[in-house]
Amino acid sequence: MTIDGLLRQGLLDPTDARILIAHALQCSRVQLVIRALESLSEPALENIQRLFQRRLAGEPIAYITGQREFFGLPFHVTPAVLIPRPETELLVELAARYLPEGGSAIDLGTGSGAVAVALAHLRTEASMTASDISEAALEVAKQNAASNKVSVQFLHSDWYGTINGEFDLIVSNPPYIVAGDAHLSQGDLRFEPLSALTDHQNGLDALSRIVQGAPAHLKAGGWLLMEHGYDQADAVQALLRDAGWESVQSWPDLAGILRVSGAHLPVN
Ligand code: GLN
Repeated sequence: MTIDGLLRQGLLDPTDARILIAHALQCSRVQLVIRALESLSEPALENIQRLFQRRLAGEPIAYITGQREFFGLPFHVTPAVLIPRPETELLVELAARYLPEGGSAIDLGTGSGAVAVALAHLRTEASMTASDISEAALEVAKQNAASNKVSVQFLHSDWYGTINGEFDLIVSNPPYIVAGDAHLSQGDLRFEPLSALTDHQNGLDALSRIVQGAPAHLKAGGWLLMEHGYDQADAVQALLRDAGWESVQSWPDLAGILRVSGAHLPVN
């Protein structure tokens, strides 16, 4: 069997198939093109078939390969962490915009560390902290900070539980899917940690806790930025206004969906 022959079987989406074959053969997808007519050894073929079976059973590509790119950086992912989403790059862009020069930022519920590591990579002069309630997630995030050569201080915390001090910026991509939402039982989400996806309530519980605790952990003028669901901008803006925040704003992702909302404390 050749690589070309495997692809022609059409068992999987062609991109998925190429990613898995390249992963099994530890080569690039460009090299697959060059090696298309090479015969595969029996062990290589068996290995590829095992990967194909996992994908056919629905397992996300990122968990099979253990890798996902975010903000142009490679991230290690395991089933202990949410797979980084492209729309979350907006959160990083906004955080980089509103974090003052040499400032301090904390990423609450960091998961794979994607937001904290990408922000630290963009803003090497800033001081970066990241927390998670999951020790297993923190292990993955620490690996990602190390492999991407950035310095991030990691804390084990249930939201603000063990967080001390004040920051210039608080950023978070918390669980915000409503309990029982149909998406939770579809596609990749079936394999992701449920506690990273849903608050097991109305989708606003974690967002509300982050809003309530933020003033005590922000310096004067400090920013709070939160990712939320495609239909939650009004609700998150209301949470912020009801808590007395002014300057409340939302920003659209590349699909034009209001995806991040936030506000800053008065400067004095
Ligand atoms: N954006 C993710 C999704 O809809 C959810 C991530 C989250 O809950 N923070 O699949």
